[in-house]
Amino acid sequence: MTSAAGQLPVAGRAEVRRATVRLVRADRRAFGAVLLLNALAATAGLAGPWLVGRIVDEVRAGAGVRTVDRLAFVILVCALVQLLLARSARYVGYRFGERTLARVREEFVDRALALPASVVERAGTGDLTARGTADVTAVGATLRDVGPELLIGSVQALFVLGAVFALDPLLGAFAVLGLTPIWFALRWYLRRARDGYLAEGSATSQVAEIVASTAAGARTVEAFRLQERRITASRHALDALRRARLHTLFLRTVFFPAVEVSYMIPVAGVLLVGGVLHAQGAVGLGAVVSAALYLRQLTEPLDQILTRIEQLQSSGASFARVEGLAGAPRSVPAGGSPAPADDRIDVSGVRYAYERGGEVLRGVDLTVRPGERLALVGPSGAGKTTLSRLLAGVDAPGTGAVTVGGVPIAGLEPERLRRQVVLVTQEHHVFLGTVRDNLLIAEPGATQEELWTALAAVGADTWVRELPGGLDARLGPGGQPTDGSQAQQLALARVVLADPHTLILDEATALLDPATARHAERALAAVLSGRTVIAVAHRLHTAHDADRVAVMEDGRLTELGTHDELVRADGAYAALWRTWHGDDTAT
Ligand code: ADP
Repeated sequence: MTSAAGQLPVAGRAEVRRATVRLVRADRRAFGAVLLLNALAATAGLAGPWLVGRIVDEVRAGAGVRTVDRLAFVILVCALVQLLLARSARYVGYRFGERTLARVREEFVDRALALPASVVERAGTGDLTARGTADVTAVGATLRDVGPELLIGSVQALFVLGAVFALDPLLGAFAVLGLTPIWFALRWYLRRARDGYLAEGSATSQVAEIVASTAAGARTVEAFRLQERRITASRHALDALRRARLHTLFLRTVFFPAVEVSYMIPVAGVLLVGGVLHAQGAVGLGAVVSAALYLRQLTEPLDQILTRIEQLQSSGASFARVEGLAGAPRSVPAGGSPAPADDRIDVSGVRYAYERGGEVLRGVDLTVRPGERLALVGPSGAGKTTLSRLLAGVDAPGTGAVTVGGVPIAGLEPERLRRQVVLVTQEHHVFLGTVRDNLLIAEPGATQEELWTALAAVGADTWVRELPGGLDARLGPGGQPTDGSQAQQLALARVVLADPHTLILDEATALLDPATARHAERALAAVLSGRTVIAVAHRLHTAHDADRVAVMEDGRLTELGTHDELVRADGAYAALWRTWHGDDTAT
């Protein structure tokens, strides 16, 4: 595996080979059938030229029209048999390809979902998207066309060469000798192609990444007048992509013409040598004719092989990028994690830095008591959001530990994690699918009744009942539209279903309009009851109502206590409270 800082890894040659063997093994019967059918089809295909050679010899020996007719008829039958065999070989081959592609896709999705959010953030979603779309498509094309065609071509070529050897070993030897220029051209090409196509793939990802991030941050770009810079960055990326493509194009323009010319060499060689041998009476004219016809026949499978090998190279690079995800760090160690002993959350000696930038958390210690409401306050940029991400297991701390019941939170598998801690932010997602699908994500085993109870808890049962189809109504594009508060209700219903003992709220309702916020807060209140709540408090009344308040400043917890204690202590919190309270009464 290789990976530049922050980028998702790319699988090495050995890993790609292992992955290929694994995919073939997974469907080895179909693969065996493809090989067998192709071999049979190739054998049937050999009959034609050999029979033509026979006809030549028979005619020279003075045979009549009937013999020729009989042989011609056999040629026809063989061609038909070959057609049928080749057709079923293709059919089985394509089915094999489609099944294997499905497997690659499923693996990719599983692996992408197992990636820690922090790794995706670091690598950029553009790279992951490019791998999941362009690269998987390229691998698909290989499995669908390239693989089967390559197999067919290889089997045919081997059989044709074998047939020339069988006709006359000397002619066979000359044919193989005539093929050596192709071998050198191929080596030259393959030496350069992998790196060329890997560079092209990574340049494509760069372009996707820049376009995606510019589009996502369009407002920021406008606000800070960064257009020029973004345009320059895009230009550079496009320029790199153009250079990478021109390079691979150059490789192809050298390789293919060289190969085209090389096809004729074995045919010419065999005719020349065969002519001499025939003149000396060493081989029959029929054998020379058959050998020349065979070598002419070789053009097509060789063409297939070489074209496909070049596609195999570029899709091999794609496959290396798709398989690379296997080497990315997983959020959950293989084999799962031990079960937390209790519901206590401990933060000890935690330091954390983002990939870009300095230390954001610089030694945080905190014990959250089960059932308490803890408000996290502090100036913007103090590290509250970062701490809440660590508490929710989105990422692991650089040093120190964030544990629940003695087990690191970031190492819990998703099924276990969502029973412990759930992070609720302003981002609510309605997934493409039915209302039921949207809820079952949180608890795949939930019964119909549990779903309705969860919906009722957040006040969403009424509108869901009114949807055509109820729980089976389709949401998202093409289905029922949902507004912001409905999306949030669904998200909260998922929290109810997941039933975690601890909730972390980050600006959960801060940006909603007042009416929606009231709705949401009511729904939220239902979800919060009976759970430990850690709230990043942007409005200090949240802090006032909390059991304890933790004040963060510059990556450290500077104060911790009840609202009253902290106001009495007259520290940073008291100052914040006075400012805020003053403002609050003034408005
Ligand atoms: P708060 O929630 O208290 O406003 P944050 O945890 O969001 O603070 O941010 C703390 C610091 O970390 C800030 O200086 C911010 O610029 C930085 N930061 C936040 N997210 C990232 C990120 N994804 N990459 C780099 N720096 C980040």
